[in-house]
Amino acid sequence: MVESIPHYIGGRRVPGTGRTAAVFNPATGRQSGEVALASAAEVREVAKVAAAAAVAWGETTPLRRARILNKFLRIVEERTDELAKVITAEHGKVLSDAVGEIQRGMEVIEFATGAPQLLKSEMSESVGTRVDCHALRQPLGVVAGITPFNFPAMVPLWMFPVALACGNAFILKPSERDPSASLLLAEWLKEAGLPDGVFNVVQGDKEAVDALLADPDISAVSFVGSTPIARYIYETAAKYGKRCQALGGAKNHMIIMPDADMDQAVDALMGAAYGSAGERCMAVSVAVPVGEKTAETLIEKLAPRVRALKVGPGTDPEAEMGPLVTKQHFEKVKGYIDAGEAAGAKVVVDGRTLKLQGYEDGYFLGGTLFDNVTPEMSIYKEEIFGPVLGVVRAPDYDTAAKLINEHEFGNGTAIFTRDGDAAREFAHSIKVGMVGINVPIPVPVAYHSFGGWKASLFGDHHMHGPEGVRFYTKLKTITTRWPTGIRSGAEFVMPTLK
Ligand code: NAD
Repeated sequence: MVESIPHYIGGRRVPGTGRTAAVFNPATGRQSGEVALASAAEVREVAKVAAAAAVAWGETTPLRRARILNKFLRIVEERTDELAKVITAEHGKVLSDAVGEIQRGMEVIEFATGAPQLLKSEMSESVGTRVDCHALRQPLGVVAGITPFNFPAMVPLWMFPVALACGNAFILKPSERDPSASLLLAEWLKEAGLPDGVFNVVQGDKEAVDALLADPDISAVSFVGSTPIARYIYETAAKYGKRCQALGGAKNHMIIMPDADMDQAVDALMGAAYGSAGERCMAVSVAVPVGEKTAETLIEKLAPRVRALKVGPGTDPEAEMGPLVTKQHFEKVKGYIDAGEAAGAKVVVDGRTLKLQGYEDGYFLGGTLFDNVTPEMSIYKEEIFGPVLGVVRAPDYDTAAKLINEHEFGNGTAIFTRDGDAAREFAHSIKVGMVGINVPIPVPVAYHSFGGWKASLFGDHHMHGPEGVRFYTKLKTITTRWPTGIRSGAEFVMPTLK
């Protein structure tokens, strides 16, 4: 049975009227759905619905908005397993990992329930004689979010709870590869009491995205996806005078110093490189052991663990890693492994040989480990976004840090060491947005903000936390002087009839 996956507009599911795209179950390779792809005209209609709803929502008190988000939080918590199943069916990640992404998303809802506190602003008394000044943070109106396939619940949740808390209406354009999670979130928001039209889902591809970017009713665009599209979104949004935050791709390095706890470092690398089949923007894809001895020990300990990775469908509780998201992506990642081998990197563990009985048509690739990777190779320069870890050997700390600082991307990075001086120097001078000290995937908690540097983020604001509140509100500063009035003319004697 192939399910039709509609839009969600004005508080209800709305079937598409034009083009569609096939949605697959990556574990079986079978088509499971047919998602609507909105036309520019359909996007225009959604924007009008959102613009109409934004007026009353923007006037709703922050406390009332927070209460709705609180109720939404409880619903997501109670139905986590239902949402996780939908994610696994279309994305492929193992169920425990799908639950993990929902939990990280819920943290942002928790943050957004502090709306009254978050929207408190600054005031200065007596900026001049009898003159006061105060600042307001007001909603932008309608904002849009365009999200990638790899976190179909968490990345939208980085955006819309904060946007709604700040009083905006939201239009979500999820990835067309795993679009169903967005519909559950939309229905649960309605159940929590969100007025119709304040949160809408428009399914689609480039045509829908271009229409959102050009729409006169949309004030701001949040984007997460690959770097070429992030750059395009940022430039196009600027052309139309829109505020934009566009998060792109990554190539995250982890330095392993000679004094690191090697077992801890290996455990960390296993989860960070192969969890979610490497389809995470914060995945570690380059390990940089410092010194030959560190490199030898690392490979020796890592290789058997990579060989022993349990790969299987996301619904298998034993599986540590599921399939890649689509057949095309599977071919692309396999092509990178071929290219790395041809360029002279040593294939220590080869994931291309994996065969899973009963899942021959699934997009499964085993964990792959390369040694002797060098900076000129495409497997070093480009984002692979698969279960492929490359080891680049560095003779000393400075060489390792220079590799990171000179790389095109600057999303996340980590150092494993017991030395406080090396760790502090790394945190202080590395040119990357999110840094881990003995923490392999340093994704900030929801009340801090998430974002990379260099080609990993275009725009001025990171996501969620205080930066999210700034992104989704516009600042108004009011200077006030009251002329002397009734007070000076007041009479303090007992009023009598005159
Ligand atoms: P993608 O860039 O292919 O797609 C992202 C979104 O853009 C989707 O909604 C898609 O429909 C839309 N899109 C695709 N092509 C477009 C085009 N030509 N014009 C307009 N819109 C277009 O990314 P993806 O493959 O879904 O996701 C993986 C990428 O996302 C990786 O590069 C990963 O690093 C990145 N990512 C980054 C972060 C981060 O925080 N920096 C987080 C998650 C994912």
